[in-house]
Amino acid sequence: MDKAAELLKKYYGYDSFREGQREIIENIMSHRDVLAIMPTGGGKSLCYQIPSMLMDGTVIVISPLISLMKDQVDTLRQIGIPSAFINSSLPLGELRQIVRDAGNNKYRLLYVAPERLESENFIELLKNIKISMIAVDEAHCVSQWGHDFRPSYLKIRNIRDLSDKNPVVSAFTATATPEVREDIINLIGLTEHYEVVTGFDRENLKFEVVRINKKFQYVLKYAKEHKGKSGIIYSLTRKLTDEVCGRLINEGFKAVKYHAGLSDMERRQNQDDFLYDNADIMVATNAFGMGIDKLDIRYVIHYNMPKNIESYYQEAGRAGRDGEPSECILLFSPQDIVMNNFLIDNSYGEDSLKSNEYAKLRDMVNYCNTDKCLRKHLISYFDSGYNKENCNNCGNCLSDIESRDITVETQKILSCIYRMGARFGGNVVIDVLKGSNSKKIRSLNFHKLSTYGIMKEYDRDTLKEIISYLISENYIAVVGDKYPVLNISASGYDVLRGRQTVTIRKLLSKKTEADKNVTAYNRDLFEILRSLRKETADSLRVPPFVVFSDASLRDMCVRYPMNKEEFLKIYGAGEVKTERYGGKFMDAIIDYVHDNNINTEDIKIQASSETSDEASGKSSGTSKTEDTRTVSYNLYKEGKNIDEIAKQRGLSPITVEGHLVYCARLGYEINYRDFVSEDKEKLIIEAYDKIGGDKLKPIKETLPDEITYTEIKFALCRADTAGEKNE
Ligand code: ADP
Ligand code: MG
Ligand code: ZN
Repeated sequence: MDKAAELLKKYYGYDSFREGQREIIENIMSHRDVLAIMPTGGGKSLCYQIPSMLMDGTVIVISPLISLMKDQVDTLRQIGIPSAFINSSLPLGELRQIVRDAGNNKYRLLYVAPERLESENFIELLKNIKISMIAVDEAHCVSQWGHDFRPSYLKIRNIRDLSDKNPVVSAFTATATPEVREDIINLIGLTEHYEVVTGFDRENLKFEVVRINKKFQYVLKYAKEHKGKSGIIYSLTRKLTDEVCGRLINEGFKAVKYHAGLSDMERRQNQDDFLYDNADIMVATNAFGMGIDKLDIRYVIHYNMPKNIESYYQEAGRAGRDGEPSECILLFSPQDIVMNNFLIDNSYGEDSLKSNEYAKLRDMVNYCNTDKCLRKHLISYFDSGYNKENCNNCGNCLSDIESRDITVETQKILSCIYRMGARFGGNVVIDVLKGSNSKKIRSLNFHKLSTYGIMKEYDRDTLKEIISYLISENYIAVVGDKYPVLNISASGYDVLRGRQTVTIRKLLSKKTEADKNVTAYNRDLFEILRSLRKETADSLRVPPFVVFSDASLRDMCVRYPMNKEEFLKIYGAGEVKTERYGGKFMDAIIDYVHDNNINTEDIKIQASSETSDEASGKSSGTSKTEDTRTVSYNLYKEGKNIDEIAKQRGLSPITVEGHLVYCARLGYEINYRDFVSEDKEKLIIEAYDKIGGDKLKPIKETLPDEITYTEIKFALCRADTAGEKNE
């Protein structure tokens, strides 16, 4: 298992196993069959991929869909594990080549579609391969009781007999019903197997039910707030799918659609656009989803209530497979019940089946109506033994906080807008409400208004929050695009005249569990790295999440890795990815750090002292900062240059440079000519006098290319400290 943990770090860049993984790998390694029932996103793939590197021969992975295989093989190749897939999409020549390579033990994993197992030829070919394990992914497909029965799965049994070595068999699924489980054991032929069922809870998903009639408005607002993130919107009918997708496109969103009424080609194109991040939003019927392995879906919105809880949990569960916080929102209106009843009424099937479906529909409606913890409701449906406390990460847990009457506050804000002539944006209104003493406010004579300073005691963020709530609830209208100004709407006047009250549900102020877990990261840098990821992925023709997950990018935006050693520590960056992409991503990070004059040493020290604080319960940040900088400085005094110091200390040159500049600014003695020539210094200072500011990039850009950031930093440092001495 030490070796397995080592591979986990080396190839995948992860520090620890998730629930179930360790036991599964252990059992496989002791040649025992395994049945693993783990939720979507639980990390099933790794359970057969890691053993493949520890065993002699090739793991044959049975996987139901071409797109699934391709994503998996793309991912494996990115992290440097030799693998291939065989399916009907391959030309015969290529197929032969792959089988030949497999015969030569070239692959750790070979993915095949179950239909292949029907072909005599293929079975013959398989005989040449040394099979170390048969791994059955999506094993529920073997069962007629499952939702995606694939008759060819029944052939899996046969390949076990092909090899006299009797390879171990492992089966993986997220479907846990007793019928399906029995079928997997019997039909695939597991013997004395080890079985593991991990919890069905998906902690990173936030569940919410919103009762609403104007659904499109909700979707529009949500999509705006989550621009650039991937999301699915499920609707009940093709017509509605077309309509919602069309309207989103009209509103300027990159949306695509998927339903059974489209041609195969259109469907594939749209699915790929979504997978490869060319489109952010997928609007679809329930035809979409099976066989898509996109990991970074941040939200799944159900435009209509689906027909039962099984479907809902499966569809919603497509969000957040990478373990990142994601949202599952069900937009519920009574009309949805009518529609679903209609669909059952008009479906084929026996009456007993129908009454079963009506019963399931009632369960679904109960979910929409409950005011108790939604997660508890969902999970108890599958697992009657589930008895956890309220989750604090669902719409109901988060909203059982009191709602607050804010009629008086609203009146104050609205009357202030009124008195200011409804000609200003939110910030100026807040200035007046808070009684700002600024020139602008005085020059406009707003300090003479009766509403001036009327909400002094509120902080700006609270006022912003109330105002955006009033905008969202349409008490305040926003007019004009370029310079939006606040105006009072008709219902706003009703509040002013005392005909209507306003309450705010204090949802916003309560942080979800997921929010708490996200440490602060640099969002600007994140966007830069995100487009670099997209570029990289496009040139490799793989989906972006295959290159790096969001979590990896975010970790880079917290730690600013600048050398290989640091990069290897990034979450999800194993050795191969570090080798392949580390340079490119570090260049972008280093550029960013330069351009924005960020002192990364501070950040790194802070990050490490945060962790050590947790352990030791006290802060030692400052002294450590002093220390490390002085160490670099002392080495410099011993005659070493920046690169030498960096190498000796295992730091990046930029970091060391930062140390020296810092010490120089404190008045430590430095020979500037070690770093910048007199001529260059002159040029730099001239440029600086013209441009000013605290960013280096604009200065760098006006200078000849051969002048480096290091030279600029030292020149400016000298100018600054010389100035101080003169003063
Ligand atoms: P499943 O097949 O169970 O739905 P996957 O095997 O596709 O899930 O894994 C989902 C995500 O979780 C992948 O991004 C994978 O790299 C990640 N993952 C798996 N195991 C771990 C682990 N031990 N630590 C961190 N991430 C993991
Ligand atoms: Mg899987
Ligand atoms: Zn809850």
